[in-house]
Amino acid sequence: MPDVFADLVGQDEAVDTLRRAAAGASAVLRAAAPPTTDAAGDEFDALADESDGGQPPAVDAGAGMTHAWIFTGPPGSGRSVAARAFAAALQCAYGTGCGGCPGCHTTMTGTHADVRMVVPDGLSIGVNEMRALVLRAASTPSGGRWQVVVISDADRLTEAAGNALLKAIEEPPPRTVFLLCAPSTHPDDISVTIRSRCRVVPLVQPAPEAVAEVLARRDGVAPDVARWAAAAAQGHVGRARRLARDPEARTRREAVLAVPRRLTGVGAAFDAASALIEAAEAEAEASVAETAVAERAALETALGAGGTGRGAAGAIRGAAGQLKDLEKRQKSRATRAQRDALDRALVDLAGFYRDALTMALRAPVAPVHTDTAALAGAGAQKWDAEGALRRLEAVLECRAAIEANVKPRIAVEAMMLSLWKG
Ligand SMILES: [Zn+2]
Repeated sequence: MPDVFADLVGQDEAVDTLRRAAAGASAVLRAAAPPTTDAAGDEFDALADESDGGQPPAVDAGAGMTHAWIFTGPPGSGRSVAARAFAAALQCAYGTGCGGCPGCHTTMTGTHADVRMVVPDGLSIGVNEMRALVLRAASTPSGGRWQVVVISDADRLTEAAGNALLKAIEEPPPRTVFLLCAPSTHPDDISVTIRSRCRVVPLVQPAPEAVAEVLARRDGVAPDVARWAAAAAQGHVGRARRLARDPEARTRREAVLAVPRRLTGVGAAFDAASALIEAAEAEAEASVAETAVAERAALETALGAGGTGRGAAGAIRGAAGQLKDLEKRQKSRATRAQRDALDRALVDLAGFYRDALTMALRAPVAPVHTDTAALAGAGAQKWDAEGALRRLEAVLECRAAIEANVKPRIAVEAMMLSLWKG
């Protein structure tokens, strides 16, 4: 049985910290528990001690544990994977995340009663959602260990939601643990006051070799495909897995990497912008459409749509509001999915110009996209290092502009013109 941290690729230091904290958390629980005399309790203690290497828990064993954590790292480094694994380790009967006990298992499959994963649908996490969450998190854990709340994109908290969370973190219920995930601890991502109350676990961008190894070992991907996908995904584990296994993801990537070749004039630049935006829209639509239809059907059933009884007219009036709410949530989720898809495309494109730049500089580094290396080489000759750098910057500026809420089409058109003109 692989332990709960097995999916975290190339993060040895973070895993070390989290294991120590989980062992510390277990010691806290043991110290708080009244002494037991029954056989089951003895067995539990014996097993728990064994997992600590046979040593009795130190007096300050709880020192490695705290009630609020932030996991930071670049996209794809495994922030939410790390948070979930740590949540499992906290619920583990043996205290370090064995992967086999019910506590580990239910947390990893998302069914543990005391673990809540908050995955924001839309562009931000609102204050009402956060208040409800904080309230529930304050209850006594039903499994006798910890109430764990994982917020997978804490950088998307609204200011009011952040304040609601801060209050909970400042006066934490004794058995509640908050695990936040964010790209960085920059004040744009997480407020300084929340940051000051949390322990930070920095994740690094995993090396392509480590990603390739995991794809081959755990997902059964052929080693050469695994190496290609790991390099092309630039350290993003989930993206590498998709590229290795999903032919449509490969087709979309190829379309993006064809862009530099197609930029032959102003008209072509605008066409390329349209194609990129439309591809992102199509990809996003495919990913959210299925859930949207199912959600609407479920809500309609719950509201008794189609009923003709005496209560039906009143129900329909209330239903209209609920359906409107649902549509709003779905629209916000679709926008997010579109931006994510577009961002992935821009990262691929940035990789191409980075390759051209490193080739122009004759830097001894492996290309990101081995399959377009020849094209990047031709670009390097034509543009020189300076021209390649300007183009790389145009792509990065486009990403930043979209993040800052510039309309995607406008940002992408500006980028395409810069890429053409150089
Ligand atoms: Zn376990």
